[in-house]
Amino acid sequence: MSDYQAPVRQMRFTIEHLADFPAVAALPDFSAVDLDTVESVLEEAAKFAGNVLAPTNWIGDQQGVRVVDRAVQVPQSFTDVYVQFCEAGWPGIASNPEFGGQGLPKTVSLACDEMWAAANVAFALCPELSQGAILAMDRHATDELKQTYLEKLVSGQWAGTMCLTEPQAGSDLSSLTSTAEPNGDRYLVRGQKIYITWGDHSMAENLVHLVLARLPDAPPGTRGISLFVVPKFKLNADGSPGEPNDVFPVSVEHKLGIHASPTCVLAFGDEGGAEGWVVGKPNEGLAAMFTMMNYMRLGVGAQGVGLSDRSYQKSVVYARDRVQGRAPGEKGRVAIIRHPDVRRMLLLMRTLTQASRAICYYTASCLDRASHGADAEAAAQWQSRADLMTPIAKAWCTEVAQEATELGVQVHGGMGYVEETGVAQYYRDVRVASIYEGTNGIQAIDLVGRKLLRDGGATVSAFVSDMRAADAPLANAGEELAAVRAALSRALDELVQSSTYLVAGEKRDPELVSAAAFDYMMLIGTVIGGWQLARGALVALEQMAAGGDKAFLGTQVVMARFYAEHVLPRCSAHAAAVRAGSASTMALAAENF
Ligand SMILES: Cc1cc2nc3c(=O)[nH]c(=O)nc-3n(C[C@H](O)[C@H](O)[C@H](O)COP(=O)(O)OP(=O)(O)OC[C@H]3O[C@@H](n4cnc5c(N)ncnc54)[C@H](O)[C@@H]3O)c2cc1C
Repeated sequence: MSDYQAPVRQMRFTIEHLADFPAVAALPDFSAVDLDTVESVLEEAAKFAGNVLAPTNWIGDQQGVRVVDRAVQVPQSFTDVYVQFCEAGWPGIASNPEFGGQGLPKTVSLACDEMWAAANVAFALCPELSQGAILAMDRHATDELKQTYLEKLVSGQWAGTMCLTEPQAGSDLSSLTSTAEPNGDRYLVRGQKIYITWGDHSMAENLVHLVLARLPDAPPGTRGISLFVVPKFKLNADGSPGEPNDVFPVSVEHKLGIHASPTCVLAFGDEGGAEGWVVGKPNEGLAAMFTMMNYMRLGVGAQGVGLSDRSYQKSVVYARDRVQGRAPGEKGRVAIIRHPDVRRMLLLMRTLTQASRAICYYTASCLDRASHGADAEAAAQWQSRADLMTPIAKAWCTEVAQEATELGVQVHGGMGYVEETGVAQYYRDVRVASIYEGTNGIQAIDLVGRKLLRDGGATVSAFVSDMRAADAPLANAGEELAAVRAALSRALDELVQSSTYLVAGEKRDPELVSAAAFDYMMLIGTVIGGWQLARGALVALEQMAAGGDKAFLGTQVVMARFYAEHVLPRCSAHAAAVRAGSASTMALAAENF
């Protein structure tokens, strides 16, 4: 039996009740998608993730990747799995049907992304990047480029990459120096890109690099960056891959985790220039690339959920099996799952995972409602909500994934620290999720600077009002959810006070945003997670009253209570740190660190 069983029932519950699936299914583009479709997609994905992908995870970690003769070699099992992944149609489940995709809502496909990441995150990054590239090209490329590339990307025959980072340009892309020189109907791209995920491989027959570079007359800074599509192999007249283009992997990084995902240094144009075509308007490439980056950010959040869940599953099995010590009222020695401290760890893992799952799926649902809504005004409101949620989904969910996977190691004791159990790998693999696609610090600054302050707190206030609407049904639920109601209400008060403090304090203290952003991000993420678990508990109580399954539904209620009592109190600490401002943070001179 596979050691990863996707929690299909929990996912379905989350999609239906916490990501507002009925509202998504009511959108004209999704009229053919009902809960039965959702269920069968999840069941099939779960089989693929558990039976095909998960068994290659450990092998990939051990074998890693290498560069031989200017080409990256990946484990053979990955190539075999990639073929099966494409044959089963998984690359295109959420893509535009015009190019062969199945057009499913993101609310559903994100659950599949969670499963791919849980099963084998190093592999999952490859199709994930292709999806981001498809979306960016679908939105911004000319019809001719779309016709040339999209069908092949959607089928998985070709794979996409994302080439932003350079040695001197990481978080700060304004300093990137790669160039693109016009040459007839195309451009010659030159420069070095670093840390390019799946930057070279031969699982797909061609690679489609989306590259940021500067035109000769481009203004400095972010307003002078353009986006180019650069194929690994130039295309023959019939569109098939031909001669190699001038782009090669120089090396792959040796890193803490995701060993089987090639993280490449790529040289563009060392032998004259890599042929590329501009995507979107010249000098507006960063905006086009943001389509891909925002897509990837939500995907990275889902990676955190998947790895937390897999670590949780392994930890439960171990805790049931491992016998150590005694417990009050029990005869003889007990399995460690009996000990309150082990239960504390398991419940923290489980509730943080479910809260982050609900945050990610809800973000996907906001995106579906923004992109497919018929009413322009409502769609714009959902877009604002999605813009607010994206940095939270990326940063909060990956921060708590560090905690959950670390707890997975701890539950295993010494066995967690040795590699054979696999939980150490999840901890290593998830570490990068706080770094790539914009570090969590940068996400938090984006959240406060752009999403909170830019409209004077209006988007956050509207969301707080929606969350406060849970108060009345929580009150009606009586004693069972009284602690949840009280903790959520307190946490929402902390959020409102901290938001007001930041909106009022920005002008007074220019360092405030950067100093307070991380705690604010953790605060709002923790509150939204508590709101989602409370909603889940309300649905569960209702369904139990109607005779529903007590084990599954009762668990939703316990999760909400545990989170309210053990996680929501963290909001007070985050709020206090926000309101402490920047004074002590900035008090030391750099030489005194
Ligand atoms: C395994 C892996 C895969 C990757 N895949 C890709 C890929 O496919 N394509 C791609 O283009 N890139 C990729 N990256 C690059 C990744 O996106 C960058 O590493 C990331 O954006 C951070 O940039 P940096 O490493 O230069 O760190 P820096 O920008 O040097 O940041 C270092 C620290 O300073 C902080 N910091 C920086 N600027 C500020 C600021 N203004 N305010 C506050 N704090 C700040 C950061 O938060 C961070 O903690 C990958 C990286 C890794 C490790």
